Amino acid sequence: MRVDVAVLRRDFPIFEAQPAPFHYLDSAATAQICRPALEALCRFEGKARANVKRGVYRLAEAATRAFEEARRQVARLLGGVDPAEVVFTAGTTLALNLAAHGLSPRLGPGRRVLVSVLEHHSNLVPWQLACARTGAELVAVPATADGRLDHEALERLLDSRVAVVALTHASNVTGAVSDVARVARAVRAVGAVLVVDGAQRIPHGPVDVRRLGCDLYAFSGHKAYGATGAGVLWGRRELLEPFPPFLGGGEMITRVTLAHSSYREPPHRFEAGTPPIGPVLALGAAARWMMAQDWQALRAHEEALTRRLLAGLAAMRDVRILGPTDVGERIGVVAFTLESHHPHDICQLLDERGVCTRGGHHCAQPLMDHFGIEASVRASLAPYNDEADVDALLEGLETVRRILG
Ligand code: PMP
Repeated sequence: MRVDVAVLRRDFPIFEAQPAPFHYLDSAATAQICRPALEALCRFEGKARANVKRGVYRLAEAATRAFEEARRQVARLLGGVDPAEVVFTAGTTLALNLAAHGLSPRLGPGRRVLVSVLEHHSNLVPWQLACARTGAELVAVPATADGRLDHEALERLLDSRVAVVALTHASNVTGAVSDVARVARAVRAVGAVLVVDGAQRIPHGPVDVRRLGCDLYAFSGHKAYGATGAGVLWGRRELLEPFPPFLGGGEMITRVTLAHSSYREPPHRFEAGTPPIGPVLALGAAARWMMAQDWQALRAHEEALTRRLLAGLAAMRDVRILGPTDVGERIGVVAFTLESHHPHDICQLLDERGVCTRGGHHCAQPLMDHFGIEASVRASLAPYNDEADVDALLEGLETVRRILG
């Protein structure tokens, strides 16, 4: 089935609000919110607002029910997992910090954490901190020349010293998708835990985390057509169970005396204080929207656009694409450099033509080091993009070249 982008865009209010030309190619930073998610957010804040988990009046009970329904929707998006395994956080960053904190008791001198060169800083810095705290050793898994995870190198590094492997499912720079199922089998064979940063992968379709075989999976609502402010850490129940508390406060306890506290079961143990209720409800609605889409068609649409973009860039003089050129191994996140022009200059000139792209290190400085550059331009696709968006970028780059020389 061909994707009718004009119909799909009706689900995204931004396209009515922004004046033309508007070519949004920064969905990897934040995707546009879908209408059901925006409506859920507005309905809650404007018409049904009350705190969750505590009130006994009907409005508060309804808010709590809606909150738990959002948890069920996210559980469906992740392959029909147990909703009790879904922890709401403020986003991927907090989810990965929670993972690193929760797994710290498994770390110590002589133990290793493997992270790849592809990681976003939010799946690197928390592990650096955890290793510094515990005396464990952080070991880097190399990337290939075209910016994919080096699966063979990872397998060579796996031995009984490895306690945790933390990897991105899809790179926010090269778009490369790692073979998580293959990694999971190898990680399980040495008795280690596999943490997956799904921030970039989830927006491209539902994921069955159990089938993938990973242990923890993190993502952000705002990249998956929800609101900013809410995200998820999914974890196998038996793994989350012994996690020590992370943030202390209300709602994560069973009993508090002045001297001691006892803690609730997951997921509530990790949801201290008032959660981002509106954004969580939006995330639930976005998950439901995602589950209603034909991802086979959307995937084919994205592949066709990615192919068009890669071919257009490859045909341009002095453009360097940072990532695999085979569309089967990647999502539509395409980073590149153009001669030695600074990415910020390029992005600003593109913006004058209504083309929204991102320039910088993309919070992946070790990967920039791997490529021997400081920064790059990144264009990232979502289902609501079309050929006109890709062509506007490519034409814009020709203009940029004329202006910058
Ligand atoms: N991981 C990856 C791969 C990302 O692309 C991002 C966002 N750019 C993050 C983690 C962090 O997500 P957030 O800022 O929503 O916490």
